[in-house]
Amino acid sequence: MRGIDTVPMPGPGEQPLITRFAPSPTGYLHIGHAYSALFACEAARQSGGRFLLRIEDIDSQRCRPEFERATYEDLDWVGIHWHGEPLRQSEHMSRYEGALLHLLEEGLLYPCFCSRKQIRMEVEQSGRAPHGPSHELVYPGICRDIDPAERERRIVKGEPFAWRLDVARAMTRTGPLHWHDCRAGWVEARPEALGDPILARKDTPTSYHLAVVLDDHLQGVTLVSRGEDLFHATHLHRLLQALFGITPPRYYHHNLIADSRGERLAKRNRAITLRHLRDIGRTPADIWKMLGLQQRV
Ligand code: GLU
Repeated sequence: MRGIDTVPMPGPGEQPLITRFAPSPTGYLHIGHAYSALFACEAARQSGGRFLLRIEDIDSQRCRPEFERATYEDLDWVGIHWHGEPLRQSEHMSRYEGALLHLLEEGLLYPCFCSRKQIRMEVEQSGRAPHGPSHELVYPGICRDIDPAERERRIVKGEPFAWRLDVARAMTRTGPLHWHDCRAGWVEARPEALGDPILARKDTPTSYHLAVVLDDHLQGVTLVSRGEDLFHATHLHRLLQALFGITPPRYYHHNLIADSRGERLAKRNRAITLRHLRDIGRTPADIWKMLGLQQRV
């Protein structure tokens, strides 16, 4: 933890904040999600703004309707109410596809034919640092310089591939970029530390990174608050914003709630789901208290 989180207020002359909570319905919400949602909800409320909900359900393999239903019920139970209809990403695929096409036409994407295994082997052989700041394997650019005719041949042959963003090329278009985090201050965007990210796969014309940037803009979000585990992703989000001509929102990367052993909470840990806590007789007021907050009346 880096100190206590404080809900930010709009700066002088700024409009009331528009915030959001953007869960993926791949499991039941746990106490960490409640913290994130409450943080965003309180920031909007205290500034007289709006709190929005977005369902990040682009991964049709892992997302399930019962988890989406449970998300609405659990938030409602804790006393977290959002403004208007939630945005469901699965209903916006053609918009993401359009944005992807724009990057493709700009010559900023390349097809990557590598499997995870191939990437791991290449990284091991090269002796490079295998993991980026978010502990994911950093793609070493294997397919970046494949000859265009060879690319074409492999695509026509039906080889599976994903679209990756050529970060170095994109950065030469945008020049240096910065973003503002309420706790860290002004940060220079260094998306190269994450490697060239996948922006779309064969059957999904988007990725988390692409969709989150487009949707925060579409929903008019002015403060993106989320866990500090996503701090590093913001470097890339800032680059995508610049490529699409989007004015960046402000960011607040809040503390993560840990379990009693200090470990990060996971959706598979049933004991800390809001559902379970409700079933064993905890009240919404108990949840607020567990998160160090006083429930509003
Ligand atoms: N859908 C992401 C998650 O559940 C959150 C994305 C975000 O807040 O930017 O982890």
